[in-house]
Amino acid sequence: MCDGKHEIILKNLQNNEKIPHSVLFLHGVIVEKCSENSLAIILNSEYSDYCSISQKTSEFKYFVRLKKGENKLKLSYCKSELSLIVYQEISENLRVVTPLYIVVNGHDGRFQARERNEAENACRRISLGLEIVQMIFAEKIRGFCGSGRKTFRLGRECQQFHSSLKLQEAYSMTESELWSFFARELIDRMPNCRNHKFVAFIGCTSYKGVSSDGGDESAVSYESIRAATVGNAALASGGLALLGSGTLFSWPESLSEIKRCLEDETKVPMTELMDDSGYRRTFGGCFTTSLGTLLHEMGHIFDLAHCDEGVMGGGSDRLDQMLTLRDFHGKYEHVPGRCVPKGREVKCTVVRREPRGRPFNSTGVYFTENCLMLLVSHKWFNDWPWGSQLDAGLAFNAHTRRISGKFPLQLVEMRNCCGLTERYWIVSASKDTNNIYFTFPPHIQLIKCTIFCIDAFGNMLNVEL
Ligand SMILES: [Zn+2]
Ligand SMILES: [Zn+2]
Repeated sequence: MCDGKHEIILKNLQNNEKIPHSVLFLHGVIVEKCSENSLAIILNSEYSDYCSISQKTSEFKYFVRLKKGENKLKLSYCKSELSLIVYQEISENLRVVTPLYIVVNGHDGRFQARERNEAENACRRISLGLEIVQMIFAEKIRGFCGSGRKTFRLGRECQQFHSSLKLQEAYSMTESELWSFFARELIDRMPNCRNHKFVAFIGCTSYKGVSSDGGDESAVSYESIRAATVGNAALASGGLALLGSGTLFSWPESLSEIKRCLEDETKVPMTELMDDSGYRRTFGGCFTTSLGTLLHEMGHIFDLAHCDEGVMGGGSDRLDQMLTLRDFHGKYEHVPGRCVPKGREVKCTVVRREPRGRPFNSTGVYFTENCLMLLVSHKWFNDWPWGSQLDAGLAFNAHTRRISGKFPLQLVEMRNCCGLTERYWIVSASKDTNNIYFTFPPHIQLIKCTIFCIDAFGNMLNVEL
């Protein structure tokens, strides 16, 4: 009989916590672990499962799906137990993110995969992918604020959207042309577009295959893979994030498949399926990279600009490190990173060949503090009933170099002509209590840039200089 004094500690959850999303990620650790290597998880006394514990770090990670309202969670390890109650409270925000699977005219709706590739499979995968991303935003904001989760509201499950665009036209269009076409079509056909943002996957993405010289697949660049793909996109702005379906073959359809899909080391057959895996060449690499791309592109629809690092830099492809117990950093440290071009027009992700120079953040994926500050104040992340009625009075005076508003300013960014945040100031963190004003420091040159500001109620100012 074990006589250890184990303690189960949850790193990202506390008793009575309110959860504004349906998929909950549990990340914990066993203090004074014994030889027992798994933990029992019981949810609402109707669902139970075992989850494995890392031999090296004694950590565990697990996903559960919450029901609306009260959820009773019981974790037991050897002789110790931890019980807590959490409340799923979906936000009342009128602003809703709607997932779509676009089927163009003349396409049968099947995405590229060896099996399970009907439009219905795509919709299940996209719905779950968005639930995961919704949870990741909440986790990152909770980590930033110390407590309290905020995230966007997800509308109904992913549905098919039958576009009037002809298949052959879709294959001849660039990413931006596809984006403009679908954005216009959505505005024309979907009601109440002002309160909707769409995350749409193009079902007809077609990868023609690349052959590697002498079978050396490591020599195949991501650029040549993209060049062999049509009907593809990774582009977002305003109310639409548009993505291709080239790597949907690697995505899970149910919660119980997430871990397996993230850890799937199956090699991508590069003559047949699109490899967008950050050079890992595995199914798991494709899933984590494309989920990271979704996170990055959704950042854009919530007004985030590119940054030098983090999710809005090139570092969005290591969600596997955050969500599993495997050490993917150690394993894939030396593969070339993907980099995000700094152009405003070209928001697609491309790859640079040199290895990354800086170490990865241990949590796998992170937003820089300016991005988190912006999201915390964003109208799509807060259900203030009065939010949209307020006259924010935000203005920039070029003569005095001062931004003024009626409500406390939260964040000021200087974005360059390519849409990259070059400097930022977190206004609320300053000693100045009267923070409805912000004056640019004298040494800052205000030319050829965009000034961005958000106040405590999510009102935004964008001034191009
Ligand atoms: Zn024990
Ligand atoms: Zn981008």
